[in-house]
Amino acid sequence: MSADNPMREALAAELAERRAARLYRERLVVESPQGPELVVGGRRFLSFCSNDYLGLAAHPEVAAAFRRGVDRWGAGSGASHLVTGHSAAHHALEEELAAFTGRERALLFSTGYMANLGAITALLGRRDAVFQDRLNHASLLDAGLSSGARFRRFPHADAAALARQLAGSGARRRLAVTDGVFSMDGDLAPLPGLAAACREHGAWLLVDDAHGLGVLGANGRGTLEHFGLGAAEVPVLMGTLGKGFGTAGAFVAGDETLVEYLVQFARTYVYTTALPPAVAEATRASLRLVQSEGWRRDHLRALVARFRRGAEQLGLALMPSGSPIQPLQVGDAGRALALSAALRERGILITAIRPPTVPAGGARLRITLSAAHGEAQVDRLLAALETVLSDTPPAVDGGAPPAA
Ligand code: PMP
Repeated sequence: MSADNPMREALAAELAERRAARLYRERLVVESPQGPELVVGGRRFLSFCSNDYLGLAAHPEVAAAFRRGVDRWGAGSGASHLVTGHSAAHHALEEELAAFTGRERALLFSTGYMANLGAITALLGRRDAVFQDRLNHASLLDAGLSSGARFRRFPHADAAALARQLAGSGARRRLAVTDGVFSMDGDLAPLPGLAAACREHGAWLLVDDAHGLGVLGANGRGTLEHFGLGAAEVPVLMGTLGKGFGTAGAFVAGDETLVEYLVQFARTYVYTTALPPAVAEATRASLRLVQSEGWRRDHLRALVARFRRGAEQLGLALMPSGSPIQPLQVGDAGRALALSAALRERGILITAIRPPTVPAGGARLRITLSAAHGEAQVDRLLAALETVLSDTPPAVDGGAPPAA
């Protein structure tokens, strides 16, 4: 390897800088299926960092549907949706997702990142404006920037600020965009207020409910069901399939005009290979479980309440979240890493989330609970947190809260 290549030297210097700032990201190599316990390096850990909120990623019925899908369809879709990749399995899943979300149509994308990028860049161009919560997921922010539309951010969860920005905008089309459940904080967007601001100013609202669908609402219909909102208030609903549904992929649901528009103009829909049909079959099975096994949501809610009660008793700096995402504020990236390492020594996996994923000074342990966990596992987590927080200074107030 030549040391005199200036491009490589610049890259290596940036890597070294990131490492020195304690912001370097390492991957774990997981040796077991997803579940409350994971095997890493031959050792079994209790895991609190997956997005498999309902415990469906390795569910026997979902896995069996996947296997039957492979037997019927083979491994790959062979083409993009607009050529010959759109199978009857994809089509049936789209119809079932449309019914589940109460929309005329749903359109499958290969990932959530691609769904957001495709939808927002199709809907907006240079004469338009996009308004984003400043804590929105990276894929939404990237999509807004790529669209060429005027890009505005509003303060986190501030519907009045959105209303003011909309009132001052003379753009041709205006789209407000928010996470339903914020992925690194766990709190919910104030959807009724955001929807009212959009209605008043003739804008559309897009909600990315990656972390709400399957999990929130009596029937698992997500953040919109939680607030009692429908298609009139939120015309563009995006959901992912790799989290609560336990498989992979994503969809955008809306009316006939929106979905046909995306079929024609969303570049990440048109120019990419369709998901394997077997993934669609597996997701059909998980969608049935999401709807028929409400006990998963009930159990998960009870675990969240148990965790928060226990954490409060210990005086832990939890963030105000009612979702299964229960981050523990730490502040300093180095301390977040030290805590994560100390938990790992005790057989518990929790990822330290550091900038740039969260704002500077906002490092945290992102604890996520799943319906696959049991009460005793949550109690074990609380006991381990109590030990490592008192062993790893500074004490439990954890330093500065993340910049809002
Ligand atoms: N939106 C949000 C809010 C997310 O958290 C994620 C995944 N981290 C995505 C979109 C992207 O979804 P996918 O993983 O399917 O690309």
